[in-house]
Order: sequence, then C-alpha cells, then structure tokens
Amino acid sequence: MSHSAPPGDGRGAGDDRYDNGRSGAGRFAPSPSGDLHLGNLRTAVVAWLFARSTGRRFLLRVEDLDRVRSGAEQSQLGDLAAIGLDWDGEVVHQSRRLRLYDAAVARLTRAGLTYECYCTRREIQEATSAPHAPAGAYPGTCRHLSADEREAKRAAGRPPAVRLRSGEPFYTIHDLLHGDFTGIVDDLVLRRNDGTPAYNLAVVVDDDAQGIDQVVRGDDLLTSAPRQAYLAALLGLSVPVYAHIPLALNADGKRLAKRDGAVTLADQAARGHTPADVLGTIAASLKLADPGEPVSLPLLLDRWNPKRFPHEPWIFRDDAAP
Ligand code: GLU
Repeated sequence: MSHSAPPGDGRGAGDDRYDNGRSGAGRFAPSPSGDLHLGNLRTAVVAWLFARSTGRRFLLRVEDLDRVRSGAEQSQLGDLAAIGLDWDGEVVHQSRRLRLYDAAVARLTRAGLTYECYCTRREIQEATSAPHAPAGAYPGTCRHLSADEREAKRAAGRPPAVRLRSGEPFYTIHDLLHGDFTGIVDDLVLRRNDGTPAYNLAVVVDDDAQGIDQVVRGDDLLTSAPRQAYLAALLGLSVPVYAHIPLALNADGKRLAKRDGAVTLADQAARGHTPADVLGTIAASLKLADPGEPVSLPLLLDRWNPKRFPHEPWIFRDDAAP
C-alpha cells in the first residue's frame, strides 16, 4: 500500500485537481438498506463540500441493485435534505439502468475480456484461504476451465456469474487524501449468477454516464478504486478523481453501526437534537466549527479547505451512553 503525503504537502496552489470542476460533478451514492447514520451523513456533507467548492454539480444516485429495504430511500433523501444538502437534477436509480450495465458486459465479452464462473461462495472462500493466495482476490479457478469442463458445469445447471478477464494484477489510482494508491485488480465479478450487475461495474458505468469526475466516499472503498479505475479504462470511460475519507468509528474503534446509540437523525431527534444541531456536530468533527456553534452549509462552504481535512477517523460517542 502506498500512502503518500497528505493534501497540502508538496502540492501547491497549481494542483488543479482541486478546482477543475467547471463542467464535472461529484456525487453521493447510498445503498437504500436502512437509515443513514451520522458517519454516512458526514460523508455526504464532505462530498457536497468537495463538489460545491470546486464548482461541480452534486448528484445523488440510489444504488438499489440489492440490499433494498422498503422506505429506506425516502428516509435517506429526507435526512439529506433535512441537514441542508441540495443536489442537482433527478435522483438516479441503478435498478432503472440495467440495460446500460448489460451493454458494458456485452462490450467486454465481445472483446474477449470476460468468462463464466461457476464457483460457489464456499469454493472461493476455500481457495482464497489457501496459503499462497493473494488476500481478497479471486484465484482464477474458472478462468482456466477447458471447453469440456465448462460444458459439464453448464450441464449441471448452476447459472454462472460473469467475471472480468483481468490483464493486470495491480492498478494505481490517485486519491486526494491518500496520494497514489496501488491495489489488487483480480478477475472481479461483472454480473452475479442471479443476473444482477455487480457493484463495481454499475458504479463505473454510472459515474461516467452521469459526468461524475470526482468520487468522494468512505475509505472502506479505497481498495475497490483500483479495480473500478481499471475497469473504466478497459471500457474507454473516464477515471474520476478520488477522495476516500476516514469512516466514523464507535468508541471501541469499530465501524459505526446502529447499536452504537443515537446514530441516526431520528435517534438524535428523540434526544432533542435538531438536524441543524447534527450538522453542527458533523462540522465540529471536520474542524469547520467549534462544538455547539450554530452552522449552515453555506457557512461551511465558506470555511472549507480540503487541505486541512482531518485524516483521522471520527470517533462518535453517544452523549447519553452509560
Ligand atoms: N453504495 C455504496 C455504499 O453505500 C457506495 C458506492 C460508492 O460510493 O461508490 O456503500
């Protein structure tokens, strides 16, 4: 992993990656699997600040290819609006764009860059826990099936996933916080065996189709970015500028979750905290305001300086926790 200097170090005012957004866009792309927690809201605020401060449009995309919980989208959009975020144009839904993803898989297939994979989750787990397997990478089991073996698998009736026939073990992306970051590119899934387009493919197709050239999101997705950028390059699509920001953690240093107390806007409201109070908490966590100071998004935009962005995770402590 190559962590280079934090923003500000060695990059002068001439670094136009911070302000080349005249016609581009940033975005927030939640999966509608439940309520947004304060860490998600904080990421949305940061993505909005990065986009608006560079003259970019800010787009919302609902990533509803799986993990959809009824009512979650409405509550997520309502919460984003309640803390003052605005966005441009219609909210885009991945579930309504299946043809685009199919077309991308078809293009890669015509170029000889895909293969059918019959592995079960269990088989992959067993193969990747072998002593010499690279961590987190598909070992390529089905890449080398002979025509006969493939026929036998087909005949057995298990529908295949479609994988990318990757030509690179690694790929390097540029991240505004992490510098140049090199990560594994394995034979990632493009279409799952239930026919659903895979997340990595959908993100790449959508970011390009929506004119998104700035991707700000949680750093749990940093290791996915090289795969996505490589896929974009193979498809002849543009690769965005990335900023993977530290996640919100609970008091034990684990990723913030529902059980960590008053973590949603609704939970906070039940404690008497308004959405504006929550925005204040987020602003203080970003060092853009003093604790308890009343803020608004325009004020935060005025104060925003990405070079002073805190690189440590935000530890959320529930003020009413025992
Ligand atoms: N939908 C993904 C999530 O909620 C985010 C995808 C992205 O930002 O690329 O974790």
